[in-house]
Amino acid sequence: MTLASLQKAEKKYLVQTYDRYPAAFARGKGMYLYDEKGRAYLDFLSGIGVMALGYSHPAITRVLREQAGKLVHVSNLFYTPFQSELAKRLAGLSGLDRAFFCNSGTEAWEAALKLARAHAGAAGKKKRVRFLAMENSFHGRTMGAVATTATAKYREPFAPVMPGVAFVRFNDIADLRRKFAEDVCAVCIETVQGEGGIRPVSREFLAEARKLTRASGALLIADEIQCGLGRTGKMFAYQHYGIKPDVVTLAKPLASGLPLGALLATEKAAAAFKPGMHGTTFGGGPLACAVALEVLNVIERAGLLEHAAGTGEYFRGKLQQLAARNKIITEVRGLGLMAAIELSDPEVAKAVQSRLLARRVIINRTHDTVLRFLPPYIVTRRQIDLLIKELEAAFAACAPAGRGGSHARA
Ligand code: PLP
Repeated sequence: MTLASLQKAEKKYLVQTYDRYPAAFARGKGMYLYDEKGRAYLDFLSGIGVMALGYSHPAITRVLREQAGKLVHVSNLFYTPFQSELAKRLAGLSGLDRAFFCNSGTEAWEAALKLARAHAGAAGKKKRVRFLAMENSFHGRTMGAVATTATAKYREPFAPVMPGVAFVRFNDIADLRRKFAEDVCAVCIETVQGEGGIRPVSREFLAEARKLTRASGALLIADEIQCGLGRTGKMFAYQHYGIKPDVVTLAKPLASGLPLGALLATEKAAAAFKPGMHGTTFGGGPLACAVALEVLNVIERAGLLEHAAGTGEYFRGKLQQLAARNKIITEVRGLGLMAAIELSDPEVAKAVQSRLLARRVIINRTHDTVLRFLPPYIVTRRQIDLLIKELEAAFAACAPAGRGGSHARA
C-alpha cells in the first residue's frame, strides 16, 4: 500500500485523532526505520521514546518468539512467574518496594492518582483530596490524567474534568509553598517534562516538594513515563537528584514496543490498595513482562546507562555549538538522551522538521517551537554528527538571516 492510499483510507475510516507525519513504515532495524520502498530513515524519536534498544533487537525478538509460543495471556486471576520477577528487578533498581502493572503510561498515571486518594483515606485524612500538578505538565489522556495535565487543549474539551487539582508554576518554589496545604494528597511532577518541551525539574524545587510532602504525609509522585528507565543516563531520572519519590510511574521503553506500564510504590503507599480496589484484564501479561525483563537485561549487559550518559553529553555539546551558530535557537535543554532545542519562530521549527523528514531523518516538535530528540539508547556519536549536519543545512535553508537564522551570535 502506498502512503497516499493509506492516507485516503485512514481519512475515511479512522476517528481523526492523529495528524500524522507523511511517512509509512514497513520495518525497522537498530537506529533505522524503512519505508515500503526500502528507504532508510535515521530515527531520533524512537516511537516517542519507546524503542530504547532500537528496532528488532535480536534478544527481544528471541524472547518475543519464545514466549509467544508458550503463553501470551492468562489474566490476573492466576499466577505466572513474570510479574513478581519484574517487580523485584524494578524494586532493586528504584529503591521502591512494590509494583503494579498495567498497559500504558496513562493507566500507570491513573493508578497513581487513585493510590494517592486511597492512601490519604487509609490514613484517616478523608479531606486530603487535592492534587498539586505542574504547569506545562503532560500525564496522559484518561480523565484523571487530563485533569492533572496543564495544557488547556488536552483538558478543556472534556470539561468538567476531575476537580481538586491546582497547577504550580514549574520550578517556582514560592508558588509551590503558597499552594501546598494540609488538604493536598499528592504532588505530581515529571522529573523531566517531556511533552512540555524537555524541561528538567530543578534540584531545589524537587527537594522542596520532597520536604513538604514528607512533613505532611502527602505522596510525591514522579512521572517517569518518558524520562525513566535509562533515558537520562541513570535508570531513573530522580536518581540525578538524590531524592526518592513515594510513587513512580513508568511505561514507554519498558517492554520495547509492547504495551506495558508500571506503578512503583513504597511499602507504605502501596498498602493503600487492597485486593479488588484496582486492576486490569491485560496488564502485566506474560508476553509483555518477559520482554520487559529482557529489556532490563540488555540495558545492563550492553552498558546502555553509561552509553546514554556519555552520548547524551556529547549530543548536548553539539546542540550548544549549533545554537551558537544559529541565533534562531534560543535554548538547548536536556538530560542524557532526552534533548531539545527551542526556536524563536514556530514556522521555522515546522519547516526544519519537515525538511528533515524529507531528508529521511525523524525528529519531532512539541509546543510548536521545540524540536525534541528521543533517540534509541544505542545511538552513536557518528549518528549524532549526521543529525547535526542535517539540522545545520535545514537552518540555512529554512531560517535565512532575515528570519533570525544563520548568523553567528553577537
Ligand atoms: N506521562 C508522560 C510524562 C508521558 O510522556 C506520556 C506520554 O507521552 C504519558 C504520561 C502517557 O503515556 P501513554 O501515551 O502511554 O498513555
